[in-house]
Parts: sequence; C-alpha cells; structure tokens
Amino acid sequence: MSNINPKWGSWSIPPKPFEKDEFDETMHTQVLVIGAGIAGLSCAYSAAESGCEVTVIEKLATYHGFAHNVGVVNSRFMRSLGIVNDPDEVAREWIKRCGNRCDERLVQIFVQKSEEAMNWALDLAEKPEYGGVKINLQGAAYKGETYNELYGAHCFYDGPVARQGKFGGLNELMEPMYQESLKLGTKFLFNTTMLQPIKEGDRVIGAAARTKDGKLIAVYASMGVLLATGGIGGNDEMCEDLCPIANKVAVKVNVPKGVDLGEGHRAALWAGAAFEDTPFPTMMHPQAIRHSNYCFMFVTPKGKRFMNEDNYLQGRSLGIIKTGYKRVYPIRKHKLKKKSFARKHRYQSS
Ligand SMILES: Cc1cc2nc3c(=O)[nH]c(=O)nc-3n(C[C@H](O)[C@H](O)[C@H](O)COP(=O)(O)OP(=O)(O)OC[C@H]3O[C@@H](n4cnc5c(N)ncnc54)[C@H](O)[C@@H]3O)c2cc1C
Repeated sequence: MSNINPKWGSWSIPPKPFEKDEFDETMHTQVLVIGAGIAGLSCAYSAAESGCEVTVIEKLATYHGFAHNVGVVNSRFMRSLGIVNDPDEVAREWIKRCGNRCDERLVQIFVQKSEEAMNWALDLAEKPEYGGVKINLQGAAYKGETYNELYGAHCFYDGPVARQGKFGGLNELMEPMYQESLKLGTKFLFNTTMLQPIKEGDRVIGAAARTKDGKLIAVYASMGVLLATGGIGGNDEMCEDLCPIANKVAVKVNVPKGVDLGEGHRAALWAGAAFEDTPFPTMMHPQAIRHSNYCFMFVTPKGKRFMNEDNYLQGRSLGIIKTGYKRVYPIRKHKLKKKSFARKHRYQSS
C-alpha cells in the first residue's frame, strides 16, 4: 500500500493520468524495462534469453554503464585463483557494516546468486566475438580487526569497449548484453523518458513516455513492467525527504548529470507501492580529495586528526561529515603513491 507522507515535497504527488486519446503512438510488448543501466539491461537480456518479447525505454542516447569494479561473492574466475568466500560470512559482514539498515532477504539473494550471475556475464563477455576482455580482482588490501576487506570486486580492462577509447569497466559486460539483446529482438527506445505508469484498476499495465522529438507514447506490457531507473541522489528534494544525509556530501557525482532523479521510485509510489519507513541507505565515498585512500590518516583543513581511520568506507564518510567540513585531507607516504596497497594485492587474469 502506498505510504505517501503529506510532509513530502511535490515529487510525491501523483500526476493526473493521461487520457488514451492524448497518446501520439501506442506500442505493445510482453516485458517493459524502464532504464538501461546494469540492472535494466541485464534484466532485459535475461528476459529476452527466456524467450520474452522485450522493450526497453531509456532517457539517454545509449545504455548507462557506470562502474569500475563489479562486486560478487564468488565467481569461476575467483575459484580459478583459489579464492572462495563463505556466503554466510559475507552476509554477516554486510549486515554489520550497514548497521542492519538493509533488507536481509535481498542480501541473501545476492550472496546466494551473485556467483551464478557473474559466471553468466563472464560467459558472454568472454565470447570470441566480443574480443576477449581481461579481468582482475581489485584490492581487498585491508585486513584490519575492525575492517576485513574480502576479495570479490572484478575489474574489466583492455576489452573491446576500452579499445575504442571509451570508458570500459562495467561497459565491457554491458556491450555484449546489449548486442545479444538486439539479436534476440529486444527493442530499445533511447532518448525516451518514462513519465508515469499506466494502470488498469490496481495493476500496472504499461508506461507513458516522451520521446526526444516530443511525442507522447504509451507502451503496454502484457507480462510486466520493470523499473530500473537507478538512484535518487540527483533529486535534492527527494533526498531531503527520504535520505537527508545525501544532501550533506561535498559533491554528488553521476555521469551524465540528471540520470538519477528517482523517476522510477516516484512512478512506483504513484502506482501504489510503499517506501520502507527508515531513511534510505546511502552509498558514500569519503570526501578526502582522493577516495582510494584506504587507512591513511585523515586531517581537517586545520591539520587536526578527528577519527579512527581504521574503518570501512561508509564509516569514514560519516566521520568526515561529522567534522562539519566538506573535505578533509589524507596524509600519505609518498612512496605508496606509486605502488598502492591495492596494486600490490591485485590478482590478474593474464
Ligand atoms: C562515480 C561513480 C563511480 C561508481 N563506481 C562503482 C564501482 O566501481 N562499482 C560499483 O559496483 N558501483 C559503482 N558505482 C555505482 C553504480 O554506478 C550504480 O550502483 C549502478 O550504476 C546502478 O545501476 P542501475 O542500473 O540500478 O542504475 P543506473 O546505472 O543509474 O541506470 C539507470 C538508468 O535508467 C535511466 N532512467 C532514469 N530515469 C528514467 C526515465 N524516467 N525514463 C527512462 N530512463 C530512465 C537512466 O538514464 C539510466 O540509464 C559508481 C557510481 C558513481 C556515480
């Protein structure tokens, strides 16, 4: 049941539904995916692989792959290096580090299924036609008593996307997913923004969207509509109501700007879904000039140390916010600049 709070801003107020005769064009599909980030694209490809007719609506001109490292609990690549994590230990660490502000059922799905998912993606990325991407495991350098980093973050480099001079990383997995989805007949409507869900009684049966040239379209989905529009960080008003700490960081980064406006969250709320009633969990990096600063000492702009840096990423981020400064400075040994902990402990595929 929708739990719209009357104190929330205008973003939460459901818009007037479009009348049928307002649409310039009507389309039909079985599965409609809104958003072509890693969540949307992998769902679209998986649904197409299962034989569904799929349509994807994406407001950008192409899919959005934005990450250097892709974290899983285990993978066949990790096993080939003799690195195997215990899923229960990972789940316990996760719950502990986020102060149990997570849905443990979702954590369990991730820890139980992430190996299968990564192997599925690797099978695709390593197909000869996609040009053989290289893989390594990131860092996991820090083995402190309070903070035990586990291996699991996969980096993809020197693949076909990077060789075209573009940002590789996650895109080395997404480009093959995109190409294979096209082969399976998936329709991508790029430069098209979902505006609101289309409902029939209590059911969501499609979505209304605006194309770049201003056409209002209705896309009806007989099997389901999947919202995969990313986070809410780019929408200050939503953050203030749902996760005020997100507005306290020195800088909000998403590329390109305007990707993460919470449009999917809003559509779900308008359609009758409810938000959890605790503040949203955040994903923050320490605002310490360079975020890859591991356990180096932090000082305020006045040179004062203020926390135990022997801690995990979100903990350090919160410690910095509590100083009242937007940014602090890590004190690093010069030599470590060249050979960082991460590099020293990195595993490579070739
Ligand atoms: C600087 C930076 C570095 C990061 N590095 C890492 C990393 O190394 N490892 C890691 O795991 N994570 C990293 N992340 C986080 C990671 O990028 C996100 O967790 C991930 O992209 C989320 O994927 P998603 O598919 O849910 O959302 P997104 O990637 O945000 O995709 C959502 C898509 O939906 C589209 N969309 C939104 N609204 C609409 C609408 N109304 N209609 C149509 N389309 C819409 C957007 O344009 C976008 O393409 C990083 C994030 C940032 C900002």
